Amino acid sequence: MSSTRDYYEVLGVERGASEDEIKRAYRKLALQHHPDRNQGNAESERLFKEAAEAYSVLGDAQKRAQYDQFGHAAFSGGGPGGGFRGASMEDIFSAFGDIFGGGFGDLFGGGRRQRGGPRPGRDLKVVLDLTLEEIDSGVERTIVLKRAEHCESCSGSGAKPGTGRTTCATCGGRGQVHRSQGFFTMATTCPNCRGAGQRLESPCATCGGAGTETRKAEVKIQIPPGIEEGVRLRVAEAGDVGEPGAPRGDLYCIVREKEHRIFERSGADVLTEVPVSFAQMALGDKVEVPTLRGRAEMAIPAGTANGKVFRLRGQGLPLLDGNGRGDQLVRAFIEVPKKLSERQKELLREFGEIEQKGSPHRSFFDKIVNYFS
Ligand SMILES: [Zn+2]
Ligand SMILES: [Zn+2]
Repeated sequence: MSSTRDYYEVLGVERGASEDEIKRAYRKLALQHHPDRNQGNAESERLFKEAAEAYSVLGDAQKRAQYDQFGHAAFSGGGPGGGFRGASMEDIFSAFGDIFGGGFGDLFGGGRRQRGGPRPGRDLKVVLDLTLEEIDSGVERTIVLKRAEHCESCSGSGAKPGTGRTTCATCGGRGQVHRSQGFFTMATTCPNCRGAGQRLESPCATCGGAGTETRKAEVKIQIPPGIEEGVRLRVAEAGDVGEPGAPRGDLYCIVREKEHRIFERSGADVLTEVPVSFAQMALGDKVEVPTLRGRAEMAIPAGTANGKVFRLRGQGLPLLDGNGRGDQLVRAFIEVPKKLSERQKELLREFGEIEQKGSPHRSFFDKIVNYFS
């Protein structure tokens, strides 16, 4: 979609802005709406493209002069804006990468490939399902995965042993082709050689020229105590192998917490419930409570209300900064017995009769009585 908004407005600069101000304004917008930061956000993508479109005009002295004179009409009929209609993010990166120094990728540590260089390996992702106990103690895991390794027959070159490469006929060895769209010419990676500038004379029979084959690998990872759900642990260069001369990709381990039978997690705190009898709540008692690392004794004071939450300090999960632990929160609830012996029934009936004769503890009913009177 071609923008109809004023290009100065798009970049948020004055009409008299200097080249430098325009460049800076574009850089700021491009970073803000960068697809790596806004994955799947269509509005950001639109703004990103709109800014690129505005910059393609205002960043070029000649086009800017035309635009100042004629506005959007200067580029009607699929003008520079139209040029972005079908443009991919990759095209925009290669069109403007130079204003970002080392390229967009570097700014985000994404390691986007330098134009024409060997391609780094793909990043891989695995999900780590951890129990709360494992999260509590920290754990070492061995991850078994399949990843791309250099093909043994051709040592990763992709060429049949004894054969070499020829210059790519499509791009003449440059690795790029130029595509014209309206006034605008973009350099894109050559589709025939994928930017390498060369083609294999005869591909390796084992890997078909890819230079890689899939093999099983084991990667050890240390999971620190207290880690949170959704965290991505990066194991540098444990992903797919890269093209010769380029690094491996990384391995990302995404932490997922297994549901626990009795504990629920809330940050560094652990929540649980214990059933307590009415008599224990009323008279007070000590109860045994399960914790992540065994059992703890918890005092129930006399006259405890149903649902009261007790805090066991330091019985939660380790804090990530290493400064102690969270707490365990224990909700005590009254378990009403389903089966009663004759003797129990007798005592409860007796208790009920005494209570009806006006217990001094019926404060809630007193409140209701006061409310209506
Ligand atoms: Zn091979
Ligand atoms: Zn080529």
